[in-house]
Amino acid sequence: MLQQTTVRAVIPYYESWLERFPDLRSLARAPLRDVLRAWQGLGYYQRARNLHRAAGAMTREHAGLIPDDAAALRKLPGFGPYTTAAVLSLAYGRPLPLIDANVRRVLMRLLSIEGGSSPSLDGKFADLLGKVIPASAPGDFNQAIMELGALVCRSANPQCLLCPVREFCRAAADGTQETIPRPRRLEVAKIEAAVAVIVRDGRFLIRRRPDKGLLAGLWEFPGGKREDGESLVETLRREVREEVGAGIEGVRFLTTVGHAYTRFQVTLHVYSCRFRRAPALPPKDFRWVTLRSIRRYPLPSGSVRIVDFLAAKKSV
Ligand code: SF4
Repeated sequence: MLQQTTVRAVIPYYESWLERFPDLRSLARAPLRDVLRAWQGLGYYQRARNLHRAAGAMTREHAGLIPDDAAALRKLPGFGPYTTAAVLSLAYGRPLPLIDANVRRVLMRLLSIEGGSSPSLDGKFADLLGKVIPASAPGDFNQAIMELGALVCRSANPQCLLCPVREFCRAAADGTQETIPRPRRLEVAKIEAAVAVIVRDGRFLIRRRPDKGLLAGLWEFPGGKREDGESLVETLRREVREEVGAGIEGVRFLTTVGHAYTRFQVTLHVYSCRFRRAPALPPKDFRWVTLRSIRRYPLPSGSVRIVDFLAAKKSV
């Protein structure tokens, strides 16, 4: 849950998640749709899918318990070296170091290592931490460095005067803490899309995204990305024809909503419309839903904003 976000933002999700899924069995038994719905707003939905599949595997193969064994953990969906070491050190007291963005930044500053991060640098940090991690409380040690990075040795504006390890820190001594590590420049692509709120008898058509790729398995209104040279209404007609196999009429602009992902910024131009002739749609991938029932489906953040707009408007 904590990928690319803060503990403070995650806490309400974490609490309601544990209320909804208090143990591995309840998570394993839940339909994927409910799991994605509970994850809605956190992004990186593959993690929710992996958690669900891992809970199923642990229920079937490990009597509903999290295995205390690296080889068994590594076979579970979503368990790479980091997650495996995190579970073993935090839950089972194994002396395995963790390297995440916070730990990496703290070590680079403490040791005054300039430049960017790299796998070979992470390997050196793992060796170093492996020598100093205490056998008595390795989980506390790992969490302490992560917290130091998250709260004190922040990427912008590090709080050196409050830092408990300042006397050992080379970057603070040299005054280079603001330039270590070298900041990464992320290219943010801008995407424009046209979205169709197709209305029939007071219900709206939503479709399920494919099981692979971005936002896999989530539900959304039909629509898609504008191609070069297209008007937004042309995009709308083309996308609906491609996705649903039908023409639309009565096209009317409703609103524009935006949403920022890590690597791109999407602007959704939303139109209401209706089918010229209603197509037969497979219920596995398409549903006609009311504004009330749509909130039971896992939706991307942009679609949630469209639903909020429709709810405020009351009629389309
Ligand atoms: S003294 Fe400053 S730069 Fe060094 S570890 Fe502490 S917060 Fe980070």
